[in-house]
Amino acid sequence: MRVEIDAGSCHGHQMCAIAAPEIFGSDEYGNAVLLIEDDLPAELESKARRAENNCPERAISIIDEASKG
Ligand code: SF4
Repeated sequence: MRVEIDAGSCHGHQMCAIAAPEIFGSDEYGNAVLLIEDDLPAELESKARRAENNCPERAISIIDEASKG
């Protein structure tokens, strides 16, 4: 599972960094930056999904390659 951020939609609420500080940081404007661009370790997958669900701008996408078959 990987995570992507749509930078054009991100408004810098930092909800993602609160939900999953291992995965999301912030740039100098407060917008989200990915700290892990590769496959996430299994123990962070539930946090990634929580961050996706908590993002008010729906700017976070989860790419779950395992589920593509
Ligand atoms: S919660 Fe969504 S909009 Fe807010 S900083 Fe994170 S990615 Fe950006």
